[in-house]
Amino acid sequence: MAPQREWLEKDFYSELGVSSDATANEIRKAYRKLANELHPDKNPGDAAAEERFKRVSEANSVLSDPEKKKEYDETRAMFAGGRFRGGNGFPGGFNGGGGTTYTTGGDFNLDDLFGGGADAGGGLGDILGGMFGGGGGGRSTGRGTASRPRRGQDLEAETTLSFRDAAKGTTVSMRVTSPSPCTTCHGSGAKPGTSPRMCPRCNGSGFVSRNQGAFGFSEPCRDCQGTGSIIEDPCPDCGGNGVQVRARNINVRIPVGVEDGQRIRLAGQGEAGMRGAPSGDLFVTVHVTGDKLFTRSGNDLKVELPVSFSELVLGATVSVPTLDGSVGVKIPPNTADGRTLRVRGRGVPKRAGGSGDLLVTVKVAVPTSLDEKATEELKAYAEAEKASGYEPRAGWGR
Ligand code: ZN
Ligand code: ZN
Repeated sequence: MAPQREWLEKDFYSELGVSSDATANEIRKAYRKLANELHPDKNPGDAAAEERFKRVSEANSVLSDPEKKKEYDETRAMFAGGRFRGGNGFPGGFNGGGGTTYTTGGDFNLDDLFGGGADAGGGLGDILGGMFGGGGGGRSTGRGTASRPRRGQDLEAETTLSFRDAAKGTTVSMRVTSPSPCTTCHGSGAKPGTSPRMCPRCNGSGFVSRNQGAFGFSEPCRDCQGTGSIIEDPCPDCGGNGVQVRARNINVRIPVGVEDGQRIRLAGQGEAGMRGAPSGDLFVTVHVTGDKLFTRSGNDLKVELPVSFSELVLGATVSVPTLDGSVGVKIPPNTADGRTLRVRGRGVPKRAGGSGDLLVTVKVAVPTSLDEKATEELKAYAEAEKASGYEPRAGWGR
């Protein structure tokens, strides 16, 4: 018998399109119909159909076997009871004010619920390995340590910043509506004035051992659903889970130089954990709008500077805006159109201190109309230029 850790993540009933109380006959009929439709012989080269066919076959192999079906149902009942799944009445997504949208974190990660992968002894695989005798060799008896509390889920949020705010850093205020520690019981889940008591069945460990044949198994305690404690007087405001869905205002400090698409992690600002367990993290994805003047390349700030032909030929000092005030940029005489001049340290601030550079690209602007005097002077200049022997197309076109 293989450990069926994946069972928790798979819904074989919905795979077959039947309800979880479907009869054996209904299951058989549903499977035959789907297997017939999805059979690879009928769908040559259709990878999606083949994948579906495999999943339907797997679902049927469990649900058509009374032994396996019973085990599957029990496993899911034990873990799917509100506490371990998303079915706590929390909304699947939610909206904050101010044009900021939020969604709850991606896949429900069962490892996280059981204390995370970093805890060598607390992973779900471990528990199920024990329950189902998988992983080679029987685990003997119960566990010495209390089960770790279940950390809240991570949250994802998004915010849009102006180019300049992103470059210079800012603080944005977000309103997040999510499962949060209950303000009445401060997350304990127990009615104020009472406190949770240690589960007598598992002595607070959250696990009980069960002997079956030659092996001893350890499994989550059913009395306390693996939490190790029992709440006799649940908090009236959260129903005993220590969590309330409510709106919170969070100030998010955006560091300098953040770029479009970056994610900022706010530790502990995600969904509250059950009964005072640690909260998940909040991840804020930053979108940065374009700027009329500037673009960026890492910490370098780029700007295109309109100049006249005479400024390029004679040289000039031109005032150029930066993120902080403006800077005088010296254009040397005989500067070619399109050349980029570098102004050190006037670009985007770096997190480690200092700033990138300002890159100024000169671009000649051609007058759309000139007054008579200027036109006359320009004609005179053209003559003089020719007389000087200057040939713009010298060496070109051959
Ligand atoms: Zn409460
Ligand atoms: Zn217990």
